[in-house]
Amino acid sequence: MQNIILCGAPGCGKGTQSDRIVEKYGLTHLSTGEMMRAEVASGSELGRLISSYTGKGQLVPDDVTIRMLEKHLDNLPAHTKGLVFDGFPRTENQAVELEKLMAKRGDKTALLLDIRVPEDEIIQRLLLRGKTSGRADDNLETIKQRLIVYHEQTEPVAAFYKARDLYAAVDGQGAIADITQRIEAILDSIYC
Ligand code: ADP
Repeated sequence: MQNIILCGAPGCGKGTQSDRIVEKYGLTHLSTGEMMRAEVASGSELGRLISSYTGKGQLVPDDVTIRMLEKHLDNLPAHTKGLVFDGFPRTENQAVELEKLMAKRGDKTALLLDIRVPEDEIIQRLLLRGKTSGRADDNLETIKQRLIVYHEQTEPVAAFYKARDLYAAVDGQGAIADITQRIEAILDSIYC
């Protein structure tokens, strides 16, 4: 089964779109951001380490992130169909490691769907989300830092997938259902 990655700037809608396509195609959702928020909420030592990065809009170090993802991959039920990675890989090193993890499972390298949204809209969306999300990182200062990190560390990841012909850009503007349709048009050609 072809695994996919939903990637894009913070607030591009990758979490929302993951939920929709996971449901439609019976895939398994793996969000490193959600894994991290759960660890922080548990009050563990690891959670405190993680929040020292997420609270400042910085990426959590690769070794911590990859170990956390690997633990979730190891615990997947045997009948798992395709996987949807949400918010991972976010660095070139994570892309290299993910390819190795996929090979270990006997899976091909995942397909990257890059959800594109202009930066001014991203900031407006995240400020709006911050009013209700309760997320410590949805404030203007941290949003700006997350965008700097995105441009410096995550945008270059696209080249890794383009070089393997495993990259598709998706227009992330407009109604949620319209964006889902654009993603489904790509996935239908893979899964049907
Ligand atoms: P968003 O895309 O809106 O920033 P996420 O839930 O994907 O939301 O991520 C929230 C935060 O969790 C990130 O800003 C980062 O600190 C941390 N994080 C999530 N995924 C990764 C990752 N793959 N590598 C490093 N840090 C991550």
